[in-house]
Amino acid sequence: MKKEYLFTPGPTPIPTEALLSMARPIDYHRSPESANVIKEVAENLKHVFQTQNDVLILTSSGTGAMEGAVANLLSPSDKVLVIRSGKFGERWGEICVAYGVEFVSIDIEPGLSVEPQAVADILKSNPDIKAVFSTLCETSTGALHDIEALGQITRDTPTLLVVDAVSALGADDLQMDNWHVDVVVSCSQKGLMTPPGLGFASLSERAWEAVEKSTLPKYYFDFQKARSELAKGSTPYTPAITFIIALQQSLRLICDEGIRNVLSRHARLAEATRAAVKALGLQLFAAHPANTLTSIRFPGGLDSKAFVNNMRKQHGITYAGGQEELSGKIIRIAHLGWMNEYDVMVAISALEMGLAEAGYNVKLGAGVTAAEQIFTTLG
Ligand code: PMP
Repeated sequence: MKKEYLFTPGPTPIPTEALLSMARPIDYHRSPESANVIKEVAENLKHVFQTQNDVLILTSSGTGAMEGAVANLLSPSDKVLVIRSGKFGERWGEICVAYGVEFVSIDIEPGLSVEPQAVADILKSNPDIKAVFSTLCETSTGALHDIEALGQITRDTPTLLVVDAVSALGADDLQMDNWHVDVVVSCSQKGLMTPPGLGFASLSERAWEAVEKSTLPKYYFDFQKARSELAKGSTPYTPAITFIIALQQSLRLICDEGIRNVLSRHARLAEATRAAVKALGLQLFAAHPANTLTSIRFPGGLDSKAFVNNMRKQHGITYAGGQEELSGKIIRIAHLGWMNEYDVMVAISALEMGLAEAGYNVKLGAGVTAAEQIFTTLG
């Protein structure tokens, strides 16, 4: 028998209530019952986004919501700033290229986070920049960007702040309204504990003003259409209603716990994981690590890709490896969504045992002890 444990930064494990809800017979998405589900989900999403703005529900993965943000906010002559510190920051730039939007970038070494002053400087010398595109947690490196500081920079300028919170929503704090963020995009399969298939986008009032003026082509991801249908508990096209029903259950769990408590839980899980990594003599990859996941620089001589493959094959433990140039060099352990301290203990204990099996000189129990100390003192 092999039991499976999923520690990837998406998809993440799904709560029993949500899993069971998907076993119910499929319903008509235009029924009054579905409208009520959509309305409840839209309301509860606002709690998670920490906003009074509408949160649009799109049938797509997170990238669809990112593409929708570019297509709905911008026009062909616009210039934007893209913060690139890994694969997902780069994606903002790739979408701009696909839509013919000119961009300048701040390119940051993988593992580091943006210096807000660098953004302020660029906006000062390029006041025509229409929007700044950032990630909250750069999932490919585990680094967190200081969105609150970026909001302080953009709030009194005409520049919009657009944030990819695809992996970090519900794990790292993002106070959309308090921090003056204009657009937040996210998805279902990470902190929201639902299968992949739903994307979300929330826009501030001034972002909606930009949407009215935008002339880039759009059809499926037309945010104005999505907003007017959402008001009726509907979507412009057939939504992934099964996943919206599952999301209804997952969101009830989040709202019952309360977003601030959910964020504190993630902070505690991340803190314990980081303490364990250090106690094992390993290095964190990110200088300002997110609470969404922990990236670990792999010890010299050990190939993290082979390690990840072996842990999955032999032990049913799925971590994420590094992507592209980080392949073989880091592993990423998510403590995201439907997780508590005991999940983290499994992740750490398996890491210790796996490292020992791979021939690394690890002090068995050191990581587990460090994590338990965090859980018993911060509990
Ligand atoms: N942005 C970030 C920060 C992500 O972590 C991911 C997925 N790992 C994406 C964008 C892309 O999301 P999706 O795969 O759902 O399209």
